[in-house]
Amino acid sequence: MKTSDLHTLFLGCNTVCTDTRLVKENDLFFALTGDNFNGNTFAKKALDNGAKYAIIDDSEYHIPGQTFVVNNTLETLQNLASYHRDYLNIPIIALTGSNGKTTTKELINVVLSQKYKTTATLGNLNNHIGVPLTLLSMNDKTEIGIVEMGANHLKEIEFLCTLAKPNFGYITNFGKAHLEGFGSIEGVIQGKSELYAFLKLTNGLAFINAKDDKQIEITADIKTVSFGDQTTHTETVIDLINADPFVITSYENLQVQSQLIGAYNFTNISAAIAIGSYFKVSNTSIKDAIEGYTPSNNRSQIITKGDTKIILDAYNANPTSMKAALESFHVLKDSKKIAIIGDMFELGETAEQEHQHIIDLADSLNIDKVIVVGTLFNATKTTSNKIQAYDTFEAFKNALIPSDLEQSTVLIKASRGMRLERILDLI
Ligand code: ATP
Ligand code: MG
Repeated sequence: MKTSDLHTLFLGCNTVCTDTRLVKENDLFFALTGDNFNGNTFAKKALDNGAKYAIIDDSEYHIPGQTFVVNNTLETLQNLASYHRDYLNIPIIALTGSNGKTTTKELINVVLSQKYKTTATLGNLNNHIGVPLTLLSMNDKTEIGIVEMGANHLKEIEFLCTLAKPNFGYITNFGKAHLEGFGSIEGVIQGKSELYAFLKLTNGLAFINAKDDKQIEITADIKTVSFGDQTTHTETVIDLINADPFVITSYENLQVQSQLIGAYNFTNISAAIAIGSYFKVSNTSIKDAIEGYTPSNNRSQIITKGDTKIILDAYNANPTSMKAALESFHVLKDSKKIAIIGDMFELGETAEQEHQHIIDLADSLNIDKVIVVGTLFNATKTTSNKIQAYDTFEAFKNALIPSDLEQSTVLIKASRGMRLERILDLI
């Protein structure tokens, strides 16, 4: 089946769907196959649930008039997305980086949607399936697309760029995330910079944080718009007024009071302001958008339970974001501060060393008590009586005296797999 014919079929459908549980009337169903399931076996169910057509890659499941058999459903989905992107011919902003992609994407989206009809990645759909789905969720009404791109190995961003063909790019930061796949921080830089390489080839533009010397260095030969505070030479000057606990910034004589905690969000907010300013969103609209944005999904949320203030950042963790969260916690002036932190995954050979660094850092900061949970943290060495270590969540739970957390501010952070948000039920 030719991609142009498939595209015509797609335009006559509601939207693309890959999950029979979410199928809506007139959808175009793509039968994707994963490690544990064969999507072809669900094609009939999708059609029964209302899908108009199903794209499959196993002729055994063919239903004349209702399914189309292709060589490889995933590749067909990706080709269709790439074709659709060309058909739309709109500006697309791509974001990648080790930390803060989703938060920054949401901030950019609320800012730009003050003036434009935007379509952005839903949630965290940022991989070889999520990016095509994001592109296919854009339509004739979309004026600007915002696409989050995730990667855990080299060449992934390069490939996603060939689908999304971004005109603009932003790399949040280079951090110690997915070291298992990238090998080292140099690997991370190389992998994320595939976005810059694409922009260079296509004469696109990168937004860069002027404080990040590495970014300045590697974007020397592409078009950039830089942002940052007054201490740096930048095109868009945004100053940090306060980050205790909420980040407050100033931009062109306007004070912007965000509902985001953690000093690291200063960069995320600044990127959204700079991009809004580039696309000529008015200053007051930028301010309204950022002030109105509240995070969700366990990312830097503040929750109050009785007289315990909880900073819930249990969505994910890696050495860079853990360090950023602890340092932000350190500057809070609250009287009793307890950090409950759990293991960081996907670190490969550096796991032992990185957990040790974090323990040493936590010990040195202005934090009253540090509780660490998980086998990796439990294996670190410390003589500090500020630190309590538990092998498992169960062991921590059994030892916890809930009243110890009263009248305190508690930071909760760990890799997703630790599910540390379970602590909320114990407080
Ligand atoms: P994922 O790789 O899971 O898609 P992401 O890059 O989209 O993650 P977010 O979901 O926005 O990142 O944020 C995850 C966590 O990263 C936050 O809860 C926070 O702890 C941390 N974080 C956010 N922004 C930054 C930043 N600029 N620098 C360092 N850490 C950050
Ligand atoms: Mg994300």
